Amino acid sequence: MAYDDQNIFARILREELPAIKVYEDEQVLAFMDIMPQADGHTLVIPKSPAVTLLDLDPQVAAYTIQVVQKVAKAMEKALGLDGIVLMQLSGAAAGQTVPHVHFHLIPTSVHQLGKHAAQMGDQEKIMQLAEKIKAAL
Ligand code: 5GP
Repeated sequence: MAYDDQNIFARILREELPAIKVYEDEQVLAFMDIMPQADGHTLVIPKSPAVTLLDLDPQVAAYTIQVVQKVAKAMEKALGLDGIVLMQLSGAAAGQTVPHVHFHLIPTSVHQLGKHAAQMGDQEKIMQLAEKIKAAL
């Protein structure tokens, strides 16, 4: 699928838009979701341009999953979690709203997931959660 380099996450990667970042390296960025489905909702994105998981280079996908695991472990430690929902929506038909591939890490149960991309979170609270996650990385 054609990649739109004006999508929100591309603009965050170019630092044209702000984000509350928890982890960054040459290939991957992790940052807090602005409309969390649970406290601590974090997104992990590869920096290379791909719309869905199906478009992503397999080696980049493999590395991104390593970072997903690393961030999940930090979230578990920092937030005292028993479980995390890992969600990946590929395609608008699946509910994907931002056309740059990303992995959601959501500290909740699948039975209690908040509504998707529906309500802005409290930025101060999100920042405090991000600090805790960063400290555990
Ligand atoms: P998708 O629907 O594509 O799987 O998920 C996109 C996610 O990005 C949603 O959970 C939504 O809350 C989040 N989101 C949308 N716009 C922004 C933004 O400007 N900044 C951040 N940090 N998250 C965003």
